[in-house]
Amino acid sequence: MPVVFTVLVCMGVLMLAHWVTRQRGFPGRESFFLLHMASFWWLAAASLEMAAQGSSCKMFWASMAWPGIVGLPTFWAVFLWQYVNSERKPLPLSQVAVFAVVPVLVWLLALSNPWHGLFYTPDTAPASDLPGAPLNYRHGPLFYATAIYEYAFVLFCLAVVIKAAVQSRGVHRRHYLAFVLVTLLPWGANLSYVFGDVQLFGFDPTPFCFAFTLLAFSWLIVGVRLFDLLPVARHLLLQELLDPVLVVDTQHRVLEANPAACRLADKKEQQQGVPLSEWPVYGQALEALLQQPLSANQDRLLTLDNPVRHFEVSCRAIERATRNGSSLLGQMLYLRDVTQRHLSERKLAEALAVSEDRLRTISSLHERLQEQALRDPLTGLYNRRYLDEFFDRELARSQREKKPLALALIDLDHFKALNDAHGHLVGDDVLVLVAQLLSDALRSTDAVFRIGGEEFLLILPGVGPEEARQRLERICVQLAITPVVTRNGPQRVTLSAGMACWPAQGEFLEDLLQIADAALYEAKRSGRNKVCGMDTASSKDLS
Ligand code: GH3
Ligand code: MG
Ligand code: MG
Repeated sequence: MPVVFTVLVCMGVLMLAHWVTRQRGFPGRESFFLLHMASFWWLAAASLEMAAQGSSCKMFWASMAWPGIVGLPTFWAVFLWQYVNSERKPLPLSQVAVFAVVPVLVWLLALSNPWHGLFYTPDTAPASDLPGAPLNYRHGPLFYATAIYEYAFVLFCLAVVIKAAVQSRGVHRRHYLAFVLVTLLPWGANLSYVFGDVQLFGFDPTPFCFAFTLLAFSWLIVGVRLFDLLPVARHLLLQELLDPVLVVDTQHRVLEANPAACRLADKKEQQQGVPLSEWPVYGQALEALLQQPLSANQDRLLTLDNPVRHFEVSCRAIERATRNGSSLLGQMLYLRDVTQRHLSERKLAEALAVSEDRLRTISSLHERLQEQALRDPLTGLYNRRYLDEFFDRELARSQREKKPLALALIDLDHFKALNDAHGHLVGDDVLVLVAQLLSDALRSTDAVFRIGGEEFLLILPGVGPEEARQRLERICVQLAITPVVTRNGPQRVTLSAGMACWPAQGEFLEDLLQIADAALYEAKRSGRNKVCGMDTASSKDLS
């Protein structure tokens, strides 16, 4: 029964090894396969030892097991180191040969035991008198030396996985902790065999535990696929990404470029190790960007012409943690295509500029309209609409400054007759030129309004009655003596004016206008071409 069981386990290990070779690669797969082979060797020798009847025959098969017994912890250590460090490159044959030296040496020493007795002492004898009874091995110094050699590897194995478990987090940590447990199991069995004489079918239980451990490891690695899934997923992501991604080393040589990066460079497939500056289409521009003294995580903008495309380039340092901090391995350059955003931004900016331009036009039109609404289109003088606002302001100022204010209503004499004789256009010419004359006669604080057909209103802030009269009479005389040049030749035009004064003659504009109107009427009635008001008695005929 034990032989059958051992053979079955042996076959199981072989099938497991076969299955492992058919799985997708994982770090240390080749060493893992060698482990299976060592375990298979050990178990095969053990089953033959169990099956053998004579004690010398049993001893021979026990000695034959040694390449497996020593090879197992050796390749176990190599495998764990490779797995934990994600080392996917198989161990070179030369190194496999180096690691195989001690197992082979131990094998030869064990085989030559009948001559030196240093491995198994001569006290080694069958456990009972029954035929085929297992041997009770008594170990010599070479055996213990080999055991120490093996345990050194075991301790190394444990140190590697415990360190990995301590340094990792979450699901990775649980994965490594399972590794620690699975690693402890066969060595626990081995220690209890060597020092406690615990046996399975009168035999070392270690290889059986190893077989179980290999199964557990295979499940952890291939079943969980923890270390396979994530890199594959990341790789797929890079492949599918529409944005170009490049990985460069410290000398700016391109080590990896995803399909999007190759497409942008018009390359069918990437060549490893091309200097970035020689990378087609955008390598030089990218190299120049990398030379910019920006902080590591600041994005840079790469612009390509023909067709114009914009990329935001994120540079991420790839570092390896070392005892003294970290050492730079290279950089990952992620080019995010922001062309659309740029175009939208530019269109938006253009639209904004157009809107601002329109707004400026509208504002200026609005100002002009406001101005036009306040001005008479023929003469350009202020019209009635602006009168109230202007008068209120000037009145307030006069009140504040305690100064007088004079106003005068002016009406052209016999204007209807002029219109009738020469036509409206000539009348318009006269109106324009009289407006000009009135404006020229004003001081900066004064204002003149066209308040009716041929009627004007003059407001003279800070001017008393006497000064106002003098200035109006001067205007009146000037118009009377200066022929107005119209399209029909020079015309003689006169005006009559009626004045009123604040505060002497009224408080409000309406009152003052009435008084001025009355004075104007007086001027007309008394012969025209004159100024009346305030002191009508003193008004003189200017004709
Ligand atoms: P008076 O000396 O009494 O003021 O005589 P007048 O003819 O000036 O009197 P009236 O007020 O009757 O006539 C004003 C004329 O002004 C009537 C109208 O034909 C003319 N008029 C009013 N507005 C305009 C205008 O914008 N252009 C022209 N050409 N004539 C105008
Ligand atoms: Mg009139
Ligand atoms: Mg008139």
